[in-house]
Amino acid sequence: MTHKLTLLPGDGIGPEIMAEVKKLIGWLESNNGPRFAITEDHIGGSAYDAYGAPLADETLEKCRTSDAIVMGSVGGPKWDGVDYNLRPEAGLLRLRKELDLFANLRPALVFDALVEASTLKPEIVKGLDILIVRELTGGVYFGEPRGIETLENGERRGFNTQTYTTSEIRRVGRVAFELARKRSNRVTSCEKGNVMESGKLWREEITALHAESYNDVELSHMYADNCAMQLLRNPSQFDVIVTDNLFGDILSDEAAMLTGSLGMLPSASLGAPGVPGLYEPVHGSAPDIAGQGKANPLATILSFSMALRYSLDESDWADAIEKAVQHVLESGIRTADIMADQTRQVSTSGMGDALIEALDTMKAKAA
Ligand code: NAD
Repeated sequence: MTHKLTLLPGDGIGPEIMAEVKKLIGWLESNNGPRFAITEDHIGGSAYDAYGAPLADETLEKCRTSDAIVMGSVGGPKWDGVDYNLRPEAGLLRLRKELDLFANLRPALVFDALVEASTLKPEIVKGLDILIVRELTGGVYFGEPRGIETLENGERRGFNTQTYTTSEIRRVGRVAFELARKRSNRVTSCEKGNVMESGKLWREEITALHAESYNDVELSHMYADNCAMQLLRNPSQFDVIVTDNLFGDILSDEAAMLTGSLGMLPSASLGAPGVPGLYEPVHGSAPDIAGQGKANPLATILSFSMALRYSLDESDWADAIEKAVQHVLESGIRTADIMADQTRQVSTSGMGDALIEALDTMKAKAA
């Protein structure tokens, strides 16, 4: 079976880190791994330069008809003066919106070799493996009415609306339960049902969905403020956390930082079954280091590995890639952003080469 994959390198360090994904794809294809039909196109500033829009309609159609999309990063000072709706970031927002990618997955995985990079004590973060599932297209960021108005007494009032429907809650809940089944089978659902009706509904719907279809999965509920605290106190208690757009925004950043390194953080955005998932690193286009061979490609490589796991049904190969990343880090090979004492610094392509070498070694050992 050939997987249809769209690659969108984007701006800044995007093309450099995507080159390492392509290297990895080449290795997989020549080592009896999955096969890919690859389409590559522009997004963000590079698309604005090439097509006059940060996501061309033709590019969107290519994305729509693929099995998965892997993106690098968008943005940079070059496009600071461009109209708001044509800014590089608008291309990414359009892609998420057009494909209705309502579930954002952010793993917080601490590799043993990087345990010292966290600001928390090693014994707290060692072995950490959390997956945050954030609802991405509803809630207070999109709810109406919203605005800033002037009151009769001359005061100004800013307001937003937190709103969730049964179907919005259930579809993201389903994603969380399904993913938990592929992991440690535990889901923690977070809201503020003690003070918000939308949170009360959230808890009721997740509870009902669990009872109807997922009672083999262990479900617990937690108020979002307590979850923020527990993530610092005892993060290992969590497997999958499912939460709304606002709380997810905050909790996923907090959980990600437990790992201590932006250059290592992958993400995925998923929609309804049959819609291609979008896989991208959490970091931006890092204009300060673009073109210098300093970028860490591992966040993008781990995003590609998530695509293998969650969209392409190639979990064994995702496992192999994650194991190879672990070997590389354990052997002391580092890009500049994750350097530590007694490690050896390599360039972006040096990291990609080290990964291929680790895969070769693993293959030779297995033979
Ligand atoms: P950034 O993530 O690009 O960079 C923050 C810092 O982390 C910089 O010092 C950078 O050098 C470093 N860094 C980031 N990725 C790295 C990697 N892979 N390896 C090593 N170091 C890395 O955030 P920023 O500087 O706030 O934003 C720069 C541009 O990226 C802006 O135009 C912003 O809008 C855009 N952005 C895009 C995305 C995206 O594409 N999803 C996300 C965030 C920011």
